[in-house]
Amino acid sequence: MSLSASAFTELELRNVGRRFGGRDALVDLNLTIRAGEFIALLGPSGCGKSTALNCLAGLLPLTHGEILIDGKRVDTLPSEKRDFGMVFQNYALFPHLTVEKNIAFGLQMRNLSKAEITRRVAEGLALVKLEEHAKKLPGQLSGGQQQRVAIARAVVLEPRLVLMDEPLSNLDAKLRLEMRTEIRRLHQSLGLTTVYVTHDQEEALSLADRLVVLREGRVQQVGTPEELHNNPNNWHVADFMGYRNLIDLTVESISGDTARVGGAGLDLTAKLVQSASVGDTVRVAIRPSDLLVLREGESAGGRNTIEAQVTVVEYQGREFAVGATTTSGQNLFVHAESAPVPGSMVTLAVEPSRVLVYASNLDAMSNEQRELAEVRG
Ligand code: ATP
Repeated sequence: MSLSASAFTELELRNVGRRFGGRDALVDLNLTIRAGEFIALLGPSGCGKSTALNCLAGLLPLTHGEILIDGKRVDTLPSEKRDFGMVFQNYALFPHLTVEKNIAFGLQMRNLSKAEITRRVAEGLALVKLEEHAKKLPGQLSGGQQQRVAIARAVVLEPRLVLMDEPLSNLDAKLRLEMRTEIRRLHQSLGLTTVYVTHDQEEALSLADRLVVLREGRVQQVGTPEELHNNPNNWHVADFMGYRNLIDLTVESISGDTARVGGAGLDLTAKLVQSASVGDTVRVAIRPSDLLVLREGESAGGRNTIEAQVTVVEYQGREFAVGATTTSGQNLFVHAESAPVPGSMVTLAVEPSRVLVYASNLDAMSNEQRELAEVRG
């Protein structure tokens, strides 16, 4: 395959911001993207993901900041001069042009030779496995096939950067999974650099080398899927990363980065992610898959235990999603390998290192940030 992306070493967003009518949609986005990386911008609706992508694409002027490629400003260039490829949620294909003509369109705009265009269109069709559909109109294709055309159309231009805005959100669950693999395969095989917007944490975790979690226009955390999955740095990120049990408890004692927290029928040894003092109300985050139902006679080992009554059991393929309630009425989300009986009492176990303690105030600093601030004086 000879299609490949033009090289750069680093793309840098420096204090990038965008306001709409006096309201901040994106504030101080700082990010360095290395060539070949797959970056996901992740966050709930309205958090500024599309604004960030559109600023990168040149579809929206910046209100603050700069964008540089290998030290040279690109935010001053019009969109078409940036040499980026875009793939949108709604495909944005020309309905009256065949698949091959849609793919050829951008190449024709670049005044490439006929032979070169024919070669690249054939490669693009092969890449997304649509050779048989070359002469069809978009309306004769499924959603997944249309999105493949949109992807081929972007990558045949050999863009420096591929920008994708929720490209899979119009597809059904099965197609979404297939296309996810397809996008990752293309990214790797063509050596692309990709920025991908999604509100689906699972999609972001499975696709990206690094994730950028946004909330209300501000970056909450940047990290690898593993870092974000295991160590969210505030409760909001934890919430977004699937820590469905978010419970406000009181700190009873502290020893190093371990705390004893209690309330709501719980008394747990936990890991302090953000600083807290004895007596503080803190927000404790536990992922359902870290909360296990102990089998009859099974020892908890060094784990915390919680007595709870099973309220609901939902079959989810290989495991069960279980709802349980503590003696004080606190609802818990639990995963179980075998189905407990609704109404029965169970003992749940969770490792202290998987009970994460956050300040309930979002602006609080993490322990790491606090140490850094102390070092800096
Ligand atoms: P979604 O997942 O729903 O697309 P998003 O995270 O991509 O959301 P943005 O579209 O970037 O969010 O919007 C961020 C904020 O900026 C929102 O509060 C939105 O209402 C506002 N906004 C976006 N575009 C405009 C616009 N053209 N004019 C005014 N406000 C806008």
